Amino acid sequence: MNKFEPVIGLEIHIHLSTESKIFCSCSTKFGNSPNSLTCPICLGLPGVLPVLNKKAFHYAIKSSLALNCQVSESITFDRKNYYYPDLPKNYQISQYGTPVGRNGFLKIKNRSSNPVKINRVHMEEDAGKLIHDQNGKISFVDLNRTGIPLIEIVTEPDIYSPDEAYDFLQELKITILYLEIADCNMEEGSLRCDANISLRKAGDKKLGTKIELKNMNTFKGIRQALEYEIQRQTILLEEGEKVTHQTRLWDPLKQKTTSMRSKEDIHDYRYFPDPDLLTYEISNKMRNKFKDELPELPMAKRERFKKDYFLSEYDADLLVRDKFIASYFEETLKFHINPKAVCNFLTSDMVGVAHEKKIKLSNIKLTPKNCGKILNLVKEGLISIKTAKELLFDLLNYDIDPEKYIEEKNLKQMNETSEIKNVIETACKENSQAVTDYKNGKNSALKFLVGQVMRLTKGTANPAMVNKLLNEKLNKEEGK
Ligand code: ADP
Ligand code: ZN
Ligand code: MG
Repeated sequence: MNKFEPVIGLEIHIHLSTESKIFCSCSTKFGNSPNSLTCPICLGLPGVLPVLNKKAFHYAIKSSLALNCQVSESITFDRKNYYYPDLPKNYQISQYGTPVGRNGFLKIKNRSSNPVKINRVHMEEDAGKLIHDQNGKISFVDLNRTGIPLIEIVTEPDIYSPDEAYDFLQELKITILYLEIADCNMEEGSLRCDANISLRKAGDKKLGTKIELKNMNTFKGIRQALEYEIQRQTILLEEGEKVTHQTRLWDPLKQKTTSMRSKEDIHDYRYFPDPDLLTYEISNKMRNKFKDELPELPMAKRERFKKDYFLSEYDADLLVRDKFIASYFEETLKFHINPKAVCNFLTSDMVGVAHEKKIKLSNIKLTPKNCGKILNLVKEGLISIKTAKELLFDLLNYDIDPEKYIEEKNLKQMNETSEIKNVIETACKENSQAVTDYKNGKNSALKFLVGQVMRLTKGTANPAMVNKLLNEKLNKEEGK
């Protein structure tokens, strides 16, 4: 048994996908030229007043509800004071005393009866971005990101392994995506996570000294950084040394963490209420309205799919991971009866073809009805599963009836013995060398001949029948 157990708490920042910033009307677009999306408010010039973005406020309430939080009856904003070149006001508007949500939880894989406790969900504005030149001599500042609305989600120290941290982040991301309030794009910094980790003697109640990990931009990186920290801290503790409170950075190339700053540098933020912003009420009526409007969330949907459609955990998870696929699945089931067949067709074939054709899933034109029809054609033996995949490739971008399409293109599966026998005759005549080779014991020649029959029938011949009939023919002649 392990002598030490890890305890992990996560702090996640997520950009809300509003058109404009949290306290001004500047655009939140990503990738514009530096400092082009700024105004006196987000630049923090004297004499300006912030006005709260209503959508950001509503999105924060929705996320709090989805994370099972108690929603505050009224909220206020506080100033978090610190100096940094990417923060023109020298304070960040955040929420300290009255966050939007408190005391929530999120169920994760393998821990559905013991969900991860969430301490709070609050709103704040993002800071700008510093860009350092390569030789480290000059730094630039881009204030386009200044004032982009964020929610910060803080978990309790209630996660007990790097795998659980990974599962939590996956579930959180999917849950937020289901709400359609953020894109959670980690590459663009729209979802960022700091992880806190301490070790304690197995069985102890008291928490150990925590290390804060920053600079991780993939969930896999977070899991690796946590695994590395467990090893590092275990060695320290086994040698009788102390872990000191630090912020450390994850280096994905070196696969290790290095110290960025120690506790001495930690700021006292001197939080105080922002006098420029009002108190915002969240009435019961408003809270209930948002609660009623919540979509079915991923964990509930997964459980329902397992129960109603007899799917495995794995299949249910593949479908639910994408809200569009999950609903497309249920729509298709109105036209084709077999859930497992629809699931496989969507999660492997359709996702694969869409990826290959570079079509966003939500933009495909093939309707669930036509998708169901394709699967019905397979079930009735009118087309092979291979043809079904080809149809998907051809029709993904169109609203075309697959039944008509296979008529027009002659794609119906050839199931007639006499028809297939005719093609086999032709294939054998055209490839007499292969026939001779087979008779001389070269077994691979049979495969080649099957291939020729499939080619001549444009892939429509029933492959099992081709195999059987060709075998019969060649071995009969052999025995003559
Ligand atoms: P701070 O005041 O240093 O910011 P907080 O109490 O606000 O600390 O917690 C910040 C994050 O660190 C939370 O996600 C919390 O769960 C986590 N955390 C706090 N103490 C520990 C600990 N001893 N070990 C692991 N995580 C911790
Ligand atoms: Zn602005
Ligand atoms: Mg904190």
